[in-house]
Amino acid sequence: MQIIKEYVAEKKERLKKELSEQDPIKMVIVQIGHVPASDRYVRNKAKDAAEVGIDCEIDNLPEDIEEEELLDMLDGLNKDDSVDGYLVQLPLPKHISEEKVKLAIAPEKDIDGFHPLSKTVPATPLGIYNYLKDMKYEFQGKNAVVIGRSNIVGKPMAQLLLKESMNVTVLHSKTKEEDKEFYIANADLIVVATGHRHTLHADYQYKENAIIFDVGINVDEDGKLHGDCDPDLLVEFQSPVPGGVGLLTRLSVIDNLIELTK
Ligand code: NAP
Repeated sequence: MQIIKEYVAEKKERLKKELSEQDPIKMVIVQIGHVPASDRYVRNKAKDAAEVGIDCEIDNLPEDIEEEELLDMLDGLNKDDSVDGYLVQLPLPKHISEEKVKLAIAPEKDIDGFHPLSKTVPATPLGIYNYLKDMKYEFQGKNAVVIGRSNIVGKPMAQLLLKESMNVTVLHSKTKEEDKEFYIANADLIVVATGHRHTLHADYQYKENAIIFDVGINVDEDGKLHGDCDPDLLVEFQSPVPGGVGLLTRLSVIDNLIELTK
């Protein structure tokens, strides 16, 4: 946890300096209703933005807002020249189509990289990728296993690793257990994003110098957060939950906003 915390603190200083040398930028976070976990994410994203000198506004909309009204509001943000970028915090209330919302965000203002034509990459895979790059990780020719194939984590993660010439295998819920064992045992880098606790556990064989990024966020009955992996697997590095990938994701929100202003 300490390695990631130090990295985040150091990168925030770098971003603050970079931003102090350019015109001020403004982002908006659109939040609909109040899911407790989302409240925390929104607060943290706004805090990070303030720390590096970004003007961040939170637009809290009522849980029962009509879809049409929300889409109009996003259209307003698309046209507002004072806003450099914005994101819509997920999850959305059930009566609002996530797909429609993603497509309503103008690609040039899309901090989260959700629109298919967006030039930004979804923040979670980008955060992991940037961290590895900054740590001078040698990607080429190594075996990467990505567990999960969602559009916001698994698929973009696989693409980023493929771009670095890794041998990438993507596993999912239909992967047979014996195949999973095989791929995991041969993996140098594993990214786990299934949304299920114990996806990786101590009974699997791992390379002792394997590196694991645990994207999962699972909340137990006591409100405690857990990743998709059991803690303390016998590998060289395993990102903790909380205090791991979540912090890297938050940094990428800022990276993406800066990218949109270029
Ligand atoms: P998602 O859309 O539900 O996708 C989950 C993926 O995992 C699917 O592709 C599914 O396969 C696969 N899967 C499910 N069970 C599996 C199993 N036992 N073995 C192998 N693959 C399995 O989830 P997501 O949006 O990618 O998010 C995944 C997790 O990451 C969630 O806990 C989410 O809260 C967390 N998350 C964290 C951050 C962060 O900042 N830390 C950001 C985003 C998401 P199929 O395609 O076959 O169904």
